[in-house]
Amino acid sequence: MREAGRIVARVHAAMREAVRPGVSTWELDQIALETLQKYGAISSFLGYNGFPAHICASINDELVHGIPSKDRVLADGDIISIDVGATYRGFIGDSAWTYAVGEISEEAARLMDVTEASLDEGIAQATSGHRVVDISRAVQRHVEENGFHVVRGYTGHGVGRQMHEAPQVLNYVAGDPDGNLILEPGLVIALEPMVQAGTWQTRVLRDDWTVVSKDKSLAAHFEHTIAITNNGPEILTLP
Ligand code: MG
Ligand code: MG
Repeated sequence: MREAGRIVARVHAAMREAVRPGVSTWELDQIALETLQKYGAISSFLGYNGFPAHICASINDELVHGIPSKDRVLADGDIISIDVGATYRGFIGDSAWTYAVGEISEEAARLMDVTEASLDEGIAQATSGHRVVDISRAVQRHVEENGFHVVRGYTGHGVGRQMHEAPQVLNYVAGDPDGNLILEPGLVIALEPMVQAGTWQTRVLRDDWTVVSKDKSLAAHFEHTIAITNNGPEILTLP
């Protein structure tokens, strides 16, 4: 899983290089494919429930599951959330990042900063002996203290040979049974705060994939694959 995670990080490094005004999300998808192939991995997303591309590319009010397209060309001031899943020797790494395209607004920059920091807050709680809900609480607190909204309909998850395994890792506190689960060394989870500027509510576009904020406000998404170890959380999707 470390190796799968490292490949995901390499794809993100390529995305960071490639994101700029004038680039289409289809081109980003092709760069991701080339990078996956270079390291002997395949996309965990292609064909997942019929998903038609190698990465998810979601622009501005799009939160997750955007489908790369030649018609979607990045413009100065956009933000784009890119989700990457790599399968390597049967194991999966999963990581998402929101990137700025050129010069972005102050609000967009703050949304990105708060969402990334909420991921860090969650990771800090991902230690042996804590419960899943400790992560959820830390993420929600940081986001809401900063005036933004945690999406309810999509969550983090266990990850391993399958992309989505138990437990479910909510980004907010609820009465879900998985919240009580005690984190133990060896468990690997994908933490992924999904945060919107104006509302926690979402809707799905007519392509049956793209999830957008209901009020068309900006959305951000940061995700790492984290191993619970005896020495604290280990982020597997870092370079
Ligand atoms: Mg992901
Ligand atoms: Mg995930």
